[in-house]
Amino acid sequence: MKKETLRKCIGCFELNDRNEMIKITRENKTGEIFINPNSKIFGRSVYLCYNISCIENSLKKNKLGKFLKSKLTKELEAKLRTFHKE
Ligand SMILES: [Zn+2]
Repeated sequence: MKKETLRKCIGCFELNDRNEMIKITRENKTGEIFINPNSKIFGRSVYLCYNISCIENSLKKNKLGKFLKSKLTKELEAKLRTFHKE
């Protein structure tokens, strides 16, 4: 049986299966931010639903940046906005 690990979305604050969510990680060493990183990247991570409203919510008032303790580039914001499934 597949084990479900629940994570809280920072856009809507609902719990979802981690495998069904966008993971955004700030690598410890370089401070670089990755969207849906592979498991080789370790760092502070946040999760979002594949949902444009959750993505937009996380970008409001630099919420996502605050969670990651980092500043998001415009490029990264634009890339993140392409990740929703609708
Ligand atoms: Zn959400």
